[in-house]
Order: sequence, then C-alpha cells, then structure tokens
Amino acid sequence: MSIIVAKFGGTSLATAERIKRVAQRLVDYHQQGNKVVAVVSAMGKSTDDLLRLAKSVNAQPPARELDMLLATGEQVSMSIVAMAVEALGVSAVSMTGGQVGIVTSAKHNRATISEIRADRLFDILDQDKIAIVAGFQGVTVEGDITTLGRGGSDTTAVALAAAIQADICEIYTDVDGVYTADPRVVPRARKIDEISYEEMLEMAASGAGVLQMRSMEFARNYGVIVHCRSAFTNNPGTLVKEATMESAIISGIVHDSSEAKITIRSVPDQVGIAAKVFGAIAQANINIDMIVQNISEHGTTDISFTSPINDLVRLRPVLDKAIEGLGARGYLIDESIAKVSLIGAGMKSNPGVAAKMFSVLADNGVNISMISTSAIRVSVVIDGDQTELATRSLHTAFGLDSDDVFEETQLSSEELQAKMAKGR
Ligand code: ADP
Ligand code: ASP
Ligand code: MG
Repeated sequence: MSIIVAKFGGTSLATAERIKRVAQRLVDYHQQGNKVVAVVSAMGKSTDDLLRLAKSVNAQPPARELDMLLATGEQVSMSIVAMAVEALGVSAVSMTGGQVGIVTSAKHNRATISEIRADRLFDILDQDKIAIVAGFQGVTVEGDITTLGRGGSDTTAVALAAAIQADICEIYTDVDGVYTADPRVVPRARKIDEISYEEMLEMAASGAGVLQMRSMEFARNYGVIVHCRSAFTNNPGTLVKEATMESAIISGIVHDSSEAKITIRSVPDQVGIAAKVFGAIAQANINIDMIVQNISEHGTTDISFTSPINDLVRLRPVLDKAIEGLGARGYLIDESIAKVSLIGAGMKSNPGVAAKMFSVLADNGVNISMISTSAIRVSVVIDGDQTELATRSLHTAFGLDSDDVFEETQLSSEELQAKMAKGR
C-alpha cells in the first residue's frame, strides 16, 4: 500500500473524455490498494478565460476579488472529477483548498502556504475514499480565499504530498516529462529520466513552466519524490529527486518570453540611487530578475533590469514616481526580449560553459544584451525573435539533440496556441 498524490493539469482535464480517463487512473490506483489524493487544475484554459473576463471589467482587478474568481476554476474540476470517480463505483470527496486545510499568507494572487492541517484528509483516506482537492488555492487565517500564482496546483500537490508523507507525488501533464528544452520550441529535445532537485529548481526558476518553482522548493525541502509524466500515456516520465547520478554539464536549456527589459536612462551616478529605485519596486511587491548598470558617462548612468510583463501595469506608476525623484531622463520598456538559460550542476567543475554559450550565439548572429550567472546556470537576454534559433543551436552545440523529433499527438491547435501564450 502506498500513499499517492496525483496532480492533473488543465489540458489533462479539458474535456469530459479526458476527465473520465483521469477518473479511471485514480480508480486503478485505488483498486491496487493505494490511498489516493488527486489534485486538480482548472479545466483547459478556463483560468485564462476568467482572467480575461476580470480584465474586461477592470484593467487592474482587486487582488482579493481576482482570487475569489480564479479559485472557482479548480472547484469546477474537483466536483466533476469526483462525480466521474463515483460513476466508476468508488467513493470520492472533493475539497477546496480551505476544506483540505491549506492555510496561506494573505498575499493575494501569490500567496505562500504557511500550514497544512491535514486531519480531514487523513479521515477521508481512512474511510477508503479518494480525495479530490482543488489545486492552486488556500485560505488565510481570516478565512479569505487565496491563490498560489500561475501553475500553483503543482505546489498544492507537492505540499500535500509532504504533509501526508506520500510515497510519491505524480504530476500528470501534457508532455512525457521534463525535457532538455521545451519540446514545442526545440523539437529535438530529449526527455530526462531523472533530475536533481537543485537542477529542476533552477530550471523552474529560469522559466521552464512544466513545474512551478515553488513546488520544487517544497519537494527539495521535504524530500518529496516527484514523477512528472503524461496524462495521455503510461510511459514513464521524469523523476525529480536527490542527485544520485553524476551530473551532466548541461541538463537543460530554458527560454522565458514572459519578461520585459526596462532601462532607466541617465540616472545621476550617486551613492544610494540603486537602493532607491529597487527599494521602491520591492515595496510594490514586483519581482525583478537581471540587473545591469552601465559605465557612468558624464556623471550619469543607465540601469537596466528585467521584470514580468504581467507586472508592468503596476511597475509603470512606481517608475514614474521614482524617476521624478531621481532626476533621471526617463525609461524605456522592451517587451520583445527573451531570456535563455543553460542549466547544469556539472558546470561547477567544468569551466568554459559561458564562453562556449556566447560563441555559439555569436556564430548564429544572436546579440546578447544582458548576462547573469549562478553556480549552475548561465542566462542571457536576447531579441525574442531569435528564441528558437538560440535555443535550438545551443541544444545542438551542447550535444543534447535526440534522434527523435517531438510530435504533438494530443492537443488541438487551439490548445497549443493558448499554451504558447501562457505567462504573457
Ligand atoms: P499543466 O497544465 O499540465 O500544468 P503546463 O502548461 O503548466 O501544464 O506545463 C506543461 C508544458 O510545459 C508543456 O506543454 C511544455 O510546452 C512546457 N515546457 C516548458 N519547458 C519544458 C521542459 N523543459 N520540459 C517539458 N515541458 C516544458
Ligand atoms: N489553473 C491555474 C493556472 O492556470 C493553476 C494551475 O493550473 O496550476 O495557473
Ligand atoms: Mg502547470
């Protein structure tokens, strides 16, 4: 007997047919004698549709109300999946984030889990029922509904797996597992059989949307073994766990088109300026990633940084105010950039990765506008139109190409379009 947490993404639940397949999988696990907890995302692209609806009535929807709205998407899934399981003759109980005891911070739209009170979940499992939990949501101590940021159902699943000490957390999605690059952009990408928490965390942090970053923090911190696999096949996927094998120099290439580059022009080159600008941005709770400050000329300098395109509506007024106070010349926003990152724990003992990356990009006529590194990552900012060229040529140059070419077999063209637009 094992305790299994199985999470299903939106595409895996997009139609009644797919939902029935999910229910069958859960019932099979149950009939094999396992205790089963399913975590479900909203059906198809319904989170995107709800967001669009909200923005059609208010360009900046109040964060609390947005959470009230978005949380309904997962509630539709949980009840429908529970009904489909019951139709197969097994008892199922659906639960919202609040009902399953997920307590979060009050930071609406990006809440963090502070506690999981899993007593009720244990009771349901003891009664031999399948628990179906709405992903992506929790509740504050005051009782307000919160959401955990886009892709947050992964975090619900891994956090629940940690809380109930599940033997495995399966993340069912619409590709066969974690690949060496997004297979929809690099068709020669290879499925990775096993990857360390450290590398998967870095891939997720660099923008590989297949697993949410925070879910990987939970997995690493609590030693949850994650199996990322396809909801459409029985093929083995990717195991995310403590490193056991010798690390590859490069285990993955990640691209991220969801950020913009902001350049503040002609900032006076004085002590404390960066602290003022980035202090104001931090206070508005806006994430920034790469930062580059140019050489000072005639007593002024340019400061560039990247930030999510989705946060620009909130960033603009902060910058307007900061610039007034600094006496800078203004700022430029470029939304057509992409960040491309090489990730690999083997980099630590293999110098020259960055140099090789830069020369491959140069040979392919790709200009680099920003660079940042960590112990196991090198990232560059390039022109967004060159994303495919850059990722594919790096994939080949670092010897990652598979003999097989990725073929889309399950998703409709409409679903694919919605996927590629995600994060924007
Ligand atoms: P779900 O709805 O199941 O949570 P997501 O869209 O969040 O699915 O994540 C799966 C998608 O992640 C895939 O369809 C794929 O296009 C994308 N992706 C990006 N990088 C990778 C990668 N390195 N390996 C696999 N998939 C990736
Ligand atoms: N439905 C939410 C989203 O689209 C959460 C998730 O799918 O994980 O971001
Ligand atoms: Mg996801």
